Amino acid sequence: MAVLTVEGARGGRLSVLVVDDSPFSRKLLERVLQGQPYDVAFAKDGQEALASISEFRPNIVITDWMLPDLSGPELCRKIRSESKSRYTYVILLTSKAEEENIVEGLAAGADDYLTKPCSVKELVARVGVGRRIIEMHREIQEKNDLLEAAARTDFLTGLPNRRAVEEYAAKQLGGAVRHQFPLWAILIDLDKFKMVNDQYGHLAGDEVLKRLAAILKKNTRTSDICGRLGGDEFILVVTHVPVGHITNLAERLRATFMLEEFTFGGQNLQMTASFGVGGFQHPERPEFRHLLARADAALYEAKTDGRVRAHSK
Ligand code: GH3
Ligand code: MG
Repeated sequence: MAVLTVEGARGGRLSVLVVDDSPFSRKLLERVLQGQPYDVAFAKDGQEALASISEFRPNIVITDWMLPDLSGPELCRKIRSESKSRYTYVILLTSKAEEENIVEGLAAGADDYLTKPCSVKELVARVGVGRRIIEMHREIQEKNDLLEAAARTDFLTGLPNRRAVEEYAAKQLGGAVRHQFPLWAILIDLDKFKMVNDQYGHLAGDEVLKRLAAILKKNTRTSDICGRLGGDEFILVVTHVPVGHITNLAERLRATFMLEEFTFGGQNLQMTASFGVGGFQHPERPEFRHLLARADAALYEAKTDGRVRAHSK
């Protein structure tokens, strides 16, 4: 079942699956679509069609009504119930021309209904409508994906934002409770950050935030997450680090950040940040906000205790 693919009008690749048990009809459609900008695959019954759909994910399906195992409308219903994330444009092409057939076919999920014999020009035009719809779906999907990503990203630093961190951390915490591995929330807050803004301007402040973000990101394993909670407050969620080592990790990050050199208005500046660590002991089953509260209390202590200490609770 070879699928050829060609570039779609907007650079995407579109593929068409023709489902028909008659070799004659399949050949006819092959001729019609040959030379047209579509990659065409063929199936001779419903099962073959479903296998081809899940394997090759065609954009457009042209199906006959009468198939040896399924009916065209049954195939439509299966396509609609199975592929929710991406749209498959379905054309029913049949000699059944009764009004009730048309209604049943469209109700089953077909996007278009064509009766045989159908002119080559019309068929090509109808498939072209399918292309337009598929491309529109793609564009909407791409925009949705971008919006989804933007809704979970901090604009200034590019780090995950509070929402993204909390979602990820809640899932990880579920695993930590079930499988009994350690999970920590490390809260990080810049010391006397307001002074940077006041003395050197907001852009200088932004630079400090971005540099701290870069250090956190560089030191975060792919299975962990770091993010900006807001203002000058950041978070790191760390798993599988034993209790004796977590403060070392925070200390190392703190020391790394202290070594960053900032020059604003011709003046060198050294910044520091305070770290608060919150964790839990098995068999406790806390929610993530409880860990955050613990980390926050530890951070508060760190702030009142020289601003450069990592505390764990
Ligand atoms: P402390 O040592 O107690 O943490 O004090 P601080 O000055 O760091 O903290 P405070 O909460 O008083 O001030 C945080 C400042 O962060 C206030 C706000 O103007 C600034 N800020 C918040 N978001 C941004 C941002 O996106 N860019 C810049 N440049 N500043 C920001
Ligand atoms: Mg601060």
